Amino acid sequence: MLIADHVIPQKLCTLRKTGSRRTSYKLSDDIGRKRETTYFARPRASQSSDITVAVFGLNRTIYAETAHYFYSSTTFLCHGSPQSGLAFLHDRAHNLHLLTNISLRYRFDAGVLAFYESVNKLSKPPANVLQTLERGQMGSFKTEPREWRRLLDVLVYACPGLRSLELVVDQSIWTLAPWHLGVRAVFQHPYGEAPPEEEISHKSFLQQVARLCGDSVRLELRILGADTEERRKLVRELEEYVRGKMGERGMKARTRTCVCGEVKLKRACVRHWGP
Ligand SMILES: [Zn+2]
Repeated sequence: MLIADHVIPQKLCTLRKTGSRRTSYKLSDDIGRKRETTYFARPRASQSSDITVAVFGLNRTIYAETAHYFYSSTTFLCHGSPQSGLAFLHDRAHNLHLLTNISLRYRFDAGVLAFYESVNKLSKPPANVLQTLERGQMGSFKTEPREWRRLLDVLVYACPGLRSLELVVDQSIWTLAPWHLGVRAVFQHPYGEAPPEEEISHKSFLQQVARLCGDSVRLELRILGADTEERRKLVRELEEYVRGKMGERGMKARTRTCVCGEVKLKRACVRHWGP
């Protein structure tokens, strides 16, 4: 199931109150404008059926009986912003212990998260988004490090059933990261600079991923544009390095549940599930 941001120009999109809760959040675009939006969850483009989505609309009894199968057999692709992943997980806090497979997309450079036309083709907007225009424009957003950390906090501390994590990284890492210094340097400083002295505790996005415990979670690293043998070898080396770091930690996630009932991500309990 694909989870991404419903990104359309702010003026054309307003959030409304509905019976079903859907956590909303703000995204900053490439010139610093903030817009409030929420995520959408859809079957993958390759899947023609919406059975996986329809399960959310089932009555309580049937849902309780099918949730286990649904969560354990579905791979959740959080390929929008970290905020869309967080909001989605917050709305399913009572079932996070059932989640087993997740795929995260890291936008190394500014990238288009989701554009309205393609969202529109997939299906209707989320129930709490009111749209007033047929066509919109694309939005360009970077991954925010602190939101990425919070997303990993949830996976590390609140998903005890997690077994596989796929990490998909944009191809701009090929030109921006210090590959010539080896995979350890890419792991620690993927943007090629050591953090200033006062920010020495800052962790790179790969270090955040390595906080997952290697004994129970299988990591798969995919970097877009790995189209030569040399690049494929580097991906394997980096993947092995991160797996090695994961094995160094032993830590147990525990079952958590939402205690706030908040519909705005900035006030949601999920932001404080870290250590
Ligand atoms: Zn909550």
